[in-house]
Amino acid sequence: MDAVVEEILRLKKEKGATILAHYYQEGEIQELADHTGDSLALARIATKVETPVILFCGVHFMAETAKILNPEKIVLLPDRKAGCSLADSCPADKLARYQEMLRINGRKFQTVTYINSTAAVKALSDWIVTSGNAEEIIKRVPLDYEILFVPDKHLGRYLQEVTGRQMIFWDGACMVHEIFSVKDLLDLKRKMPQSITIAHPECPANILEHSDFTGGTEAMIRHVATFSEPKDFLVATEPNMMWQLEKRFPKHRYHGVPGISCACNKCPHMALNTLEKLRDCLEKMDPQIEWQPFFDQSGEVLRRSLLQ
Ligand code: 13P
Ligand code: SF4
Repeated sequence: MDAVVEEILRLKKEKGATILAHYYQEGEIQELADHTGDSLALARIATKVETPVILFCGVHFMAETAKILNPEKIVLLPDRKAGCSLADSCPADKLARYQEMLRINGRKFQTVTYINSTAAVKALSDWIVTSGNAEEIIKRVPLDYEILFVPDKHLGRYLQEVTGRQMIFWDGACMVHEIFSVKDLLDLKRKMPQSITIAHPECPANILEHSDFTGGTEAMIRHVATFSEPKDFLVATEPNMMWQLEKRFPKHRYHGVPGISCACNKCPHMALNTLEKLRDCLEKMDPQIEWQPFFDQSGEVLRRSLLQ
């Protein structure tokens, strides 16, 4: 076994830590995690962890969510700078001003916020959704309310289409899912006419309209599980997802859809976490997510949206 992996496993035991990893982490990190999952599964699993420490291998909003739902736990994030372009697109003060403007204009609305957002933004929201529960949560918004959907305009557009609810969109996008190349996807489909295209709903409409299946990472796993014969899958999401699919369903072949400017489309934020940083943060118990005053309010919204 790799020396760094051995150190991580030793420190994990010594410090009483459980390792959670999102499917967009490198395979070597997913491999040593106690649990892997999508944003929804990991938030729920975090509430069941029995050890005093959670080492969250993902990005900041995920670790922050785990801390908010488990105030008594120490939540570590291997790299404090592992952010998210969606969370960055929606500063809380700007959202508060926009909500105020809508109210002044007499609009009656509820704010439905994608989990890829800061805790301060969650505190200004009525509901939090993930790719895994969005349709179910949107049904809870009374029909006489408009929906202000933040921050992902592409996910919002997709949800407006599948739920039939009118939405006001925020102008945010995921830097990874926004730049898949339609031309390259169509070339791949021509080369492999029997292939099946699976795409994350963070992708723009021009990718989703050429996809056979749209769903978050956990839904992709469930969909691929339904194919008994070996298939070629064209995958329009962060490429580390293919590590998880290959591990679970090795009989299929997976082909990443290229990006416009780079062939692999990796999330640069997720990629900040490395085995060495996992080891160092367990050793130093830092970086940790520190409790902030607005976590109480975001905790209420998160609990009624994800745990009830
Ligand atoms: P899910 O795994 O919940 O579908 O989230 C995708 C994502 O972009 C996380 O940053
Ligand atoms: Fe954010 Fe996109 Fe990276 Fe997910 S893949 S963390 S949505 S930038």
